Amino acid sequence: MIDILYTGGTFGMVDQGAGMRPRAGIGADIAEIVAEFEAAAGLSVGYRYSELDPVIDSAQADAGTGRRIAERVRAGIASGRPKGVIVIHGTDTMAYVGARIAFELRGCAIPILLTGAQIPLGQPGSDARDNLRLALKSIVARTDPGTYLAFGAGLHPAVRASKRAVEDYEGFTTIRALTPPPVPAVLPEASRPREARGPVGLLTVFPGLHAALLDAAVDHYRGGLVLECYGSGTAPLHGTEMMDSLRRAILRGTPVVVITQCDSGGVDLARYQPGRVLLDAGVISGGDMTREAALAKLTHLVDSGFCGARLRHAMETNLLGELSNPPPAACDSSLHHAYVAH
Ligand code: ASP
Repeated sequence: MIDILYTGGTFGMVDQGAGMRPRAGIGADIAEIVAEFEAAAGLSVGYRYSELDPVIDSAQADAGTGRRIAERVRAGIASGRPKGVIVIHGTDTMAYVGARIAFELRGCAIPILLTGAQIPLGQPGSDARDNLRLALKSIVARTDPGTYLAFGAGLHPAVRASKRAVEDYEGFTTIRALTPPPVPAVLPEASRPREARGPVGLLTVFPGLHAALLDAAVDHYRGGLVLECYGSGTAPLHGTEMMDSLRRAILRGTPVVVITQCDSGGVDLARYQPGRVLLDAGVISGGDMTREAALAKLTHLVDSGFCGARLRHAMETNLLGELSNPPPAACDSSLHHAYVAH
């Protein structure tokens, strides 16, 4: 049996004159696609279908959407023991939500596949059926457990993928190959209830970044901030008052994780002076994580009660393949010891 959860997105959208918007109640279309798939494959997969209420344009996803969808998936797995789960989702935030699901449901023994479309069901050239068939086929073929985006020609590991095309059938790119940890990292469930530490956010640096924008970001995103820097982790903060606000935020207990805007290579904060200043201020290196994975991981860990040195350690450890492994010589065996959230 396969669980199919429809959350919205272009897949089922209609345009009645005011721009495309999501449509609820596409169960009959799904039944037809599954039946066609079963007939072609000569097997019966069996499925359970449900919808998010309301279905959304995934651009409307908020900070809690990924976790809410992950909880729905988790509840479905507990109640029905499916062989796999398919989440039909809008492409705009599919990589963000997919990464969040990957962290929330780490260790899950079945594949979870997010899929969607660039062109709605029933429209000429629609890729909706093909993408749903790809997801079904991947579950039937016993894809390894984990969270993937099933889109276009194949699967993308959710923690390494990013939307990189608006119209192309290949909407997603695997930015860097999945790098599974050499020894499975053990990360226990949070030992105490989630506390409100403040929201977690993301800010991209650019030439002309104004102190008011950084101040607003560190002021609002008290739970944590992913700072998407240039190249090896440099930013236009060195020697400015912005550096003081960043330092104050870190001292106050807001973790700041530095990642790179580049698609290849990762952060090396010791390389240039503007990076060293960040390092000295106490930022956490996000290595070569995508922005989607870094945001999802930081949010997940903060929500799970991690802070201080344990949060840093977990952020800098490859948990699911989201981060390249350190070279063997630099490998610290303690990295793979259990974390205790506090
Ligand atoms: N705006 C749409 C969404 O993300 C785009 C899509 O699904 O392709 O819901």
